[in-house]
Amino acid sequence: MNQAINVANLAQFEARPFKVYTHRQLDKIEALQHLTEEQRFEMKVVASILPFRVNEYVIEELIDWDDIPNDPIFQLTFPQREMLAPEAYDRIAQLMKTEASKAELNAAIDEVRAELNPHPAGQMDLNVPRLNGVPLPGMQHKYRETVLFFPSQGQVCHSYCTFCFRWAQFIGDKELQFAAKEASQLHEYLKEHQEVTDLLITGGDPMVMKTSNLKQYLEPLTQPEFDHIQTIRIGSKALTFWPYRFVTDTDADELIELFQMLVDAGKHVALMAHYNHWKELSTPISHEAIKRIRATGAEIRSQGPLLDHINNSGDDWAKLWRDQVKLGVIPYYMFVERDTGAKRYFEIPLARAWEVYREAMQKVSGLGRTARGPSMSADPGKVEIQGVAEIHGEKVFVLRFIQGRNPNWVQRPFFAKYDDKATWLNHLKPAFGEEKFFFEEEFEAMKKPIS
Ligand SMILES: *Cc1c(COP(=O)(O)O)cnc(C)c1O
Repeated sequence: MNQAINVANLAQFEARPFKVYTHRQLDKIEALQHLTEEQRFEMKVVASILPFRVNEYVIEELIDWDDIPNDPIFQLTFPQREMLAPEAYDRIAQLMKTEASKAELNAAIDEVRAELNPHPAGQMDLNVPRLNGVPLPGMQHKYRETVLFFPSQGQVCHSYCTFCFRWAQFIGDKELQFAAKEASQLHEYLKEHQEVTDLLITGGDPMVMKTSNLKQYLEPLTQPEFDHIQTIRIGSKALTFWPYRFVTDTDADELIELFQMLVDAGKHVALMAHYNHWKELSTPISHEAIKRIRATGAEIRSQGPLLDHINNSGDDWAKLWRDQVKLGVIPYYMFVERDTGAKRYFEIPLARAWEVYREAMQKVSGLGRTARGPSMSADPGKVEIQGVAEIHGEKVFVLRFIQGRNPNWVQRPFFAKYDDKATWLNHLKPAFGEEKFFFEEEFEAMKKPIS
């Protein structure tokens, strides 16, 4: 193993058993005992709709229990009443209070969930690739260069984020789960698609998988027929929720060696770390995990959405990016919260999102200004808000595609009427009297079913 990995003083970090609580165990969380009965009941109502899972590391080391309910990591993991619309909340609360039958409660729960747009941005149909005509539900191929792969063993997380846009897959609705069982399908598909340069393993969180499972997917990529796969990205929030994965877990060393092997074989390995707040980077174990990963030559890039109640502040983003740069983590994306799940609670107007981004950018050096955004991962592509401008007396949003279903759309500026309430692309109207945005007709044609 690489010398740099060994020099770390591992003795100071003890292995920690992974202890996790789900919505049925809310009452067992000691830290919640000093909340009121009513607060705990509210949490149960919300947790019956949206998935809940939190582990002891998060509870004990990331949340400041003297700052409840405002603590950002508390907001990131624990259900809050306002995450549901008042009518939806009242309906479920009433059924729970009156101890309605299971059937009645479950029917109501299903209806409330269905109203929360469980599958945003055409993920179910538009993005699913095919191999010899057969759909591959454990993959997505939306942008030419990059294939997303959802290994079946990686479709949970060490804790769940309250704003998760893949929340639907955690509530047991099989139809909404992407998962691939077979490594061979992935490898066949990649062999047939020489235009693909990047593989992104995602979930859930692939870092919940045993290293031996991950290896089955990744090791074959060092063979010459996969030379076109330059970059292996792994999307994960384990650096926040379970940094022990990289340091003291029983197969942590094997994982670090796997990264090293891929780097030595000439691959660019990038851990795409999901971060929302600088507090996630406040523990010694989280620093140690970063150090070990970087010592292999793998990069860590950070991305995450801008969220009300968690990080709606230029100062917080500036500190997050500064702390990341100090630790060698590269800021990559600031996302706009997607139109699903608890969006009503977390959403921020696009105009405000741009202000937060701008304020944060102004407070960091150039090395902290590498995050693109605020970016909406919408149906036609990733659309960035470049700014607000006034052109010949008309106030507009200046927008551009960072990624597009048609690569031709990328980097072309376009304009929408300014709207101080808009929170997503579908709220925006073309500026300057245009009927449609330049990409709309082509995009509509793409959505017609292939016969
Ligand atoms: C964001 C995203 C990618 C990667 O885009 P990059 O700009 O290359 O980081 C790939 N596929 C999907 C579906 C995405 O949303």
